[in-house]
Parts: sequence; C-alpha cells; structure tokens
Amino acid sequence: MSHQKSKSGLRPGLCTVCHHPALDDINLALMNGMALRPLGAQYGLSPSALSRHTKHIGRALAENRQREQEAQFNAYLDELELLKVRLDRLFRKAEDAHSLHISLGCLQESLKIITLRARLTQTPNGRI
Ligand SMILES: [Zn+2]
Repeated sequence: MSHQKSKSGLRPGLCTVCHHPALDDINLALMNGMALRPLGAQYGLSPSALSRHTKHIGRALAENRQREQEAQFNAYLDELELLKVRLDRLFRKAEDAHSLHISLGCLQESLKIITLRARLTQTPNGRI
C-alpha cells in the first residue's frame, strides 16, 4: 500500500558517510565548505568517501526534513492520546457523579478526537 521510497534509498553499504552517527554535523560542515581532508580526519572518514557523499546531501536533508515531520506528527498523535485519556478519566468521574451533561460532553469530545485521529492517520503523509 505504501509506495513511498524505502529508507534504503541511500544505498546502504555504499556510503559510509550516510550511515555515520554524526551525519548531520558532517553535512553541515560540507555545506559550509569545509575542506574534505580535515573533516575526514575529524570523523574518521576518507576524503574520497566525503567527496562521493556530497552527491547525497540533498537527499539526506530531505530525509531529515521528513523525519522531523514524522516526529512532529507522532508528537501530535501522542497529545491527542493524552487528551483522550484525560477525557476518559473525566467521563468516569462525571458518570460516578451522575452528571449527564458533562458525561455527554466528554463523549462528544472523545468522538472528535477519534475522528481527527482517523483523518490524520489516513493521509498519505501520515503513515510511514
Ligand atoms: Zn552519502
């Protein structure tokens, strides 16, 4: 169903820089025009590997942005979940107190959250 590019788009195994833990810092240094030799020495990479990697920076940045968007999206879903938990708690209290008005309000708000979550997770960007 998902036909987005796989995470292996960077051709694992071929570029040591793309898999380096300090990839973001390295990309930044490269974009700032840092010379390959000292940069390579700093991160234990060969200048030729860095040179090959310069072609991947655009893609790495795009993936980075996508990761950030996904993280933001997941944080948003977490907040909805938290809201739902609080509503459930409030609902139980209202029910115990036989407060029909508040109980109904909780149910309506819960429905909104469920609908919103369903809509969000169905968008093409919503799923990985
Ligand atoms: Zn690379």
